[in-house]
Amino acid sequence: MDFAIPEHIQKMRADIRAFVDAELIPREADFDLNDGRALEASLQAVRAQVKANGWWAPGLPKDVGGLGLPLTDLALISEEVARSPVGYFCFGMQAPDMGNAELLHMFGTDEQIETWLKPLAAGDIRSCFGMTDKGTAGSNPTLLNAPAVKDGDDYVINAHKWFTSSYDGAAFCIVMAVTNPDAEPHSRASMIIVPTDTPGFEMVRNIPVMGESGGGWFSHSEIKLTDVRVPQTNILGEEGAGFLLAQKRLGPGRIHHCQRWMGICNRALELMKQRANEREIKPGEVLADTQIVRQWMAECTTEYMAARGLILQAAWTIEQRGFAEARDMVSMIKFHAANVTQKVLDTAIQLHGGLGMTDDTPIAYWWRHERAARIFDGPDEVHKLSLGKRLLRQ
Ligand SMILES: Cc1cc2nc3c(=O)[nH]c(=O)nc-3n(C[C@H](O)[C@H](O)[C@H](O)COP(=O)(O)OP(=O)(O)OC[C@H]3O[C@@H](n4cnc5c(N)ncnc54)[C@H](O)[C@@H]3O)c2cc1C
Repeated sequence: MDFAIPEHIQKMRADIRAFVDAELIPREADFDLNDGRALEASLQAVRAQVKANGWWAPGLPKDVGGLGLPLTDLALISEEVARSPVGYFCFGMQAPDMGNAELLHMFGTDEQIETWLKPLAAGDIRSCFGMTDKGTAGSNPTLLNAPAVKDGDDYVINAHKWFTSSYDGAAFCIVMAVTNPDAEPHSRASMIIVPTDTPGFEMVRNIPVMGESGGGWFSHSEIKLTDVRVPQTNILGEEGAGFLLAQKRLGPGRIHHCQRWMGICNRALELMKQRANEREIKPGEVLADTQIVRQWMAECTTEYMAARGLILQAAWTIEQRGFAEARDMVSMIKFHAANVTQKVLDTAIQLHGGLGMTDDTPIAYWWRHERAARIFDGPDEVHKLSLGKRLLRQ
C-alpha cells in the first residue's frame, strides 16, 4: 500500500494553496455571499487567472476543457480549493454544474453536447438540477410525481420543485419528471433539459436557508413549471432512465461534496490553531494552553483525518474497481464526513467565542450552509438504513 502523493499532484497542491492564500483568503472580508450575482461577477477575473494557470475544471474530462484528473488526485486538489468558500466556483468545480456536466458527457447527444455541455464546461453558462418536488418526500424520489406528457414532438411539463440549487441565473435546468407513470417505480422518471427562459418556467423565490436567501450560484430556489413545452429531443439518456442517471450523477457527486468538506475542515482547523495560539485568556496564558482546547484539536483532527482517509479509499476504489465495489464506502463517507464537518465547525465556533458567531471568519457561513450536508444527496438516516441492510446481508 502506497500513501505517497504523486509528485506532480504535490506540486499542484502547493501552487493552488499559495494561490488560494494570496488571491482568495485576503479578500474574504469583501465577499458578500448573500449577494451572489454581484459576487459571481467579481470572481470572473479570478476564474480567468485559474484558467491561465492551467487549473480549470480539474474533475472534467480533457475533451471538454477539464484536466481529467483521476478521482484520488481530484480529492487531494479539492482539499486545497475548498479552503475558501468561493474556491469551487473559481476553479470550475462547483455543484450542480460539475455533476450536470458529467451527466451530459456520459449521456448527452451531439447536439446537447454542443448546446449545453461545451459552454457549461467552459464556465460561460451555469445550470441547475431539479429533482426534489415540493410536495413529495425528497428522500424517496420514486414518489416524485411531476408529469412530463408527450404532445406532438414535445414534452409538456408541470412541476413545483424546491431546493433547486443555483437556479437563479442558470441557463438550463435538468428536470426530473414522470414520463412513464405506469412503469415500475424506478423506471417512471426521466431527465429532461429545460432552458430556464422557456415560457411557463418561473422562480417563486430564493429560499431563505438559515436566514440567507443568497443569490446567483449561491442560492437555492423554489421553482414552478406550468405547461412548459420542450422538444422530446431534450431528454437526457433513455426515457424512464432518470433514476439510473441520477445514480450515475450522485455517486461521484457525493465524493465531490465529501472532498469539499475536507477542505472546509482543513481551513477550520487552521483557524482554530491560529486563534488558540493568539488569544490570551489570562496574563501569559493563551487558549492553546488549556486542556480542553488541546482535547478539541486532538479529537477534531483525528476525526477529520479518519474521514479523509475513508474518502480517499472510496475514491481509489471507484477509480480502480468501479463504483459498485465502493458503494458501501460511499454511503459511509456521505454521512460520516458530513457529521465530522459539522462537529469541526461547531467546535471552531466555540473556540472562537463571539468571533465565531460573526462573518469575520468563514466558519459561521459554513456552519449555516453545510448543515444541509446531512440532508441533501440522501439524508444520514437513508444512507445508514441502506448501508446497514447491505452489511447485515453480506
Ligand atoms: C441546501 C439544500 C440544497 C439542495 N439542493 C438540491 C438540488 O439542487 N436539487 C434537488 O433536486 N434537490 C436539492 N435538495 C433537496 C434534497 O435533495 C432533499 O431535501 C433531500 O432529498 C431530503 O428530502 P426532503 O427535504 O423532502 O426530506 P424528507 O424526505 O421529508 O425527509 C425528512 C427527514 O426524514 C428522515 N427520513 C427520511 N427517510 C427516512 C427513512 N426511510 N427512515 C428514517 N428516516 C427517514 C431524514 O432525517 C430526513 O432528513 C437540496 C436540499 C438542501 C437542504
